Amino acid sequence: QPCVPLQANVINLKTFLSAVRLAHQGNDTSVLPLSPLVPAKNSDVEKPKTKMIITSRRDYPLTKSFPFSLEHLQTSYCKLARIDSRVLCLRRLRKLDLSLPCRIGQLSRLRFLSAARNKLPFLPWDFRNLSLENLDLFGNPFEQPNPLVPNIQLKIPLTLLECAARATVNHRIPYGCHLLPSHLCKDLEVAKTCRCGSACLSSFIQITVTMNLHHVAHTVVLVDNMGGTDAPVLCYFCSLHCYSQFLDRHHG
Ligand SMILES: [Zn+2]
Repeated sequence: QPCVPLQANVINLKTFLSAVRLAHQGNDTSVLPLSPLVPAKNSDVEKPKTKMIITSRRDYPLTKSFPFSLEHLQTSYCKLARIDSRVLCLRRLRKLDLSLPCRIGQLSRLRFLSAARNKLPFLPWDFRNLSLENLDLFGNPFEQPNPLVPNIQLKIPLTLLECAARATVNHRIPYGCHLLPSHLCKDLEVAKTCRCGSACLSSFIQITVTMNLHHVAHTVVLVDNMGGTDAPVLCYFCSLHCYSQFLDRHHG
């Protein structure tokens, strides 16, 4: 796991693990040269970083990773076109202030989210999985959703690759970079989910639908000066059948 860097003296760690094994088997551990327990000096111990505020593009970490212990991350004025997926590794994150990666719904502990005065035309599809205390999306140029004007990326018949990829995700077939080329693994990780629960990768119908932000947040800052709390969310369908069922239900 590249997300969680673990640091230890390798030799001491191996000795310690051997001692644990011996002790577990009921053997004498005194034969092993365990290092004496010298209290760590203050300078040896680096406190886990929980807060990071980046206010210029210069300071944005490009080669280093974010500290995995972050609970509060703010990146403002960095002119980021998109946020890299490294943010998704920050499983302790409680407060995030930036524009939105497409799988933001994975951040199950996120409670405070601000993406005010950004350039978001709509919200990513799994935004609806969030469970927030406070949400501020004021001042974004949200598009007016129009489910009757779909973006059709559906290729019929489905390619063999699309069929295989859908089956892999739908049946939760284990995969990894030891089995598949890494670009396929990346594609599978960002598979979209149709309303029917099925996965789709590069063959889909996309629309935006209106979501009331109170579905995902207890306190919602108005999105505009008109008092609105609705925002457009991307929505995917795996087939014409699923799309027409959606239309029947909402406009029939
Ligand atoms: Zn479907």
